[in-house]
Amino acid sequence: MKANSVKTRLKVNDNVVVICGADRGRRGKVLFIDRRKGRIVVEGVNKKKKYMKPSQENPKGGIISIERPIDISNVMFFCEKCKKGVKLSVNIMEKSKNRVCKKCGKSIA
Ligand SMILES: [Zn+2]
Repeated sequence: MKANSVKTRLKVNDNVVVICGADRGRRGKVLFIDRRKGRIVVEGVNKKKKYMKPSQENPKGGIISIERPIDISNVMFFCEKCKKGVKLSVNIMEKSKNRVCKKCGKSIA
């Protein structure tokens, strides 16, 4: 059985852990997922500085840091029970789909 275009079972607000790159091992909350491009934005991960021109909200302007997207395949769901990144599987119940940790079977909201 092949999934359609969506390759991830992650959702916004999931806790994930970065498994490679400069931020490897860092944990954070999923802020945004671009399924079409396969990119994901994780809180506190891959922060880049950006110069802001002074504006009404921010009259001084200055440098802010914002999270830049990384590849979805660089993160895994962080299972509280396993204390590490895990793959998720989906249990299809009668009326709903339930995401569960592939390792320990813990169900995830
Ligand atoms: Zn688990």
